[in-house]
Amino acid sequence: MDGTFNENDLSRVVEADRAHIWHHLIQHKPFETNDPRIIVEGKGMRVWDQKGKEHLDAVSGGVWTVNVGYGRESICKAVYDQLMKLCYFANSAGSIPGALYAEKLISKMPGMSRVYYTNSGSEANEKAFKMVRQIAHKKYGGKKTKILYRDRDYHGSTLAAMSAGGQDERNAQYGPFAPDFVKVPHCMEYRKEELGLGHLSGAEFGRAAADLIEEVILREGPETVGALCLEPVTAGGGVITPPEGYWERVQEICKQYDVLLHIDEVVCGIGRTGTWFGYQQYGIKPDFVTMAKGVASGYAAIACMVTTEEVFEMFKDNSDDPLNYFRDISTFGGCTAGPAAALENMRIIEDEDLLGNCTAMGERMLGNLHALMEKHAVIGDVRGKGLFLGAELVANRETKEPVTEKQAQAVVADCMAQGVIIGVTNRSIPGRNNTLCFSPALIATAEDIDAITDAVDQALTRVF
Ligand code: PLP
Repeated sequence: MDGTFNENDLSRVVEADRAHIWHHLIQHKPFETNDPRIIVEGKGMRVWDQKGKEHLDAVSGGVWTVNVGYGRESICKAVYDQLMKLCYFANSAGSIPGALYAEKLISKMPGMSRVYYTNSGSEANEKAFKMVRQIAHKKYGGKKTKILYRDRDYHGSTLAAMSAGGQDERNAQYGPFAPDFVKVPHCMEYRKEELGLGHLSGAEFGRAAADLIEEVILREGPETVGALCLEPVTAGGGVITPPEGYWERVQEICKQYDVLLHIDEVVCGIGRTGTWFGYQQYGIKPDFVTMAKGVASGYAAIACMVTTEEVFEMFKDNSDDPLNYFRDISTFGGCTAGPAAALENMRIIEDEDLLGNCTAMGERMLGNLHALMEKHAVIGDVRGKGLFLGAELVANRETKEPVTEKQAQAVVADCMAQGVIIGVTNRSIPGRNNTLCFSPALIATAEDIDAITDAVDQALTRVF
């Protein structure tokens, strides 16, 4: 096959894909014997595949990314204009969109001050991890190097990010991992028995779940713990919303033991929960915030690690010491397409009040899912914030035994056949996927939301 392509000959694309693409997250054997799916086009909330079939996308590009929807001409134009002017220069120098986006972003993040550009959520997290390690050397005689991460949270696919990975099934067979990453327990109220806290509820449970973090800090020695890295609402680990009282206590603990708080907003950031950032729902004051997916809604690859002036200042002292600054680079952190797209993405969210729409449509969807829970015993729990929602499927409501991976996948496949793309996230038990996941673009209408939950209703009726 040469590189030329006739728009009408999509079978060639399928052939090339089958022959040469190693897809992300896919078991290739069944994929090859089944019919591969090529997504050809997108507009608004919808995408079309190679057969011309229309799909309502309830997962914003599969992984919580296309927050402002497909086919945004103004973003494409902003990127085109910027690329014609200047496509790239290493970020040791500045760029017009880089500076303007940083200014705009910081205006949405009171208390934060500095933006470090990079390419992916994993890398953004690694930048923060490296800073924590360097601070340990600069300020604490090399001691406070440990980074705590939480069971069920996910922070990326690179090895250090995986070292902070709380989903065991993703880590199996990729070790050994980086030292000094220490796991703390999850905070999922629905499965509080696993934590030995089955007798507590509400804020009492939330505070007790946070106290489990304190126990780990005390066990490890507070003088060894540099940072705590958490998702504000856990995404791939099962769409876990924090219990009442949890974050207040977490913040107290970090302050008490001088532990930096790193909030991973790779999924929640830029509007997904109905505020610019998920942490703003819970009054958290972070030291590091990382973000990626919604920053430019997938129109360009861009991720940001944002920190405070206090952290930045630590890297400015002893300016005669050649080892004393943040000796790090991300080549494509100098691409100008990213911040150009991100600026326009943010303008769209503001001008179209997509935060307001996200909150309103999120409430509608949560209501619809609760109604489905009344009807289908297989839904054990419904959780979510804004347009970031999950419905956990259980074989038995009493024991909370998960449904099988096959059953959960059958629900996803049934929705797909109906023309609605939904997701399913993992529990940290190998081979068992059981939380249906919904993250439509922030432009979703009431009709879109109802169409998604209607499809789930029909799928559950057929599968169970
Ligand atoms: N952090 C969270 C919470 C994520 O969900 C992801 C990816 O899904 C990442 C980090 C890693 O981002 P990336 O795939 O861009 O490296």
